[in-house]
Amino acid sequence: MSRTGGGVPDKICAGCGRPFAWRKKWARCWEEVRYCSAACREGRYQAATAAAEKRRKGA
Ligand SMILES: [Zn+2]
Repeated sequence: MSRTGGGVPDKICAGCGRPFAWRKKWARCWEEVRYCSAACREGRYQAATAAAEKRRKGA
């Protein structure tokens, strides 16, 4: 669910698979943003990814 309120769509993080909202720091590169955090971008989010997978299957 988006709460950005500015008509900017959420994206799905390529690292953890969870939706994340536009942030001001991404104003100039939002089209290129694929990860919700530096941890995801650097592949340090495996634990959370596994948790997200488990959650998805469990749901
Ligand atoms: Zn992420």
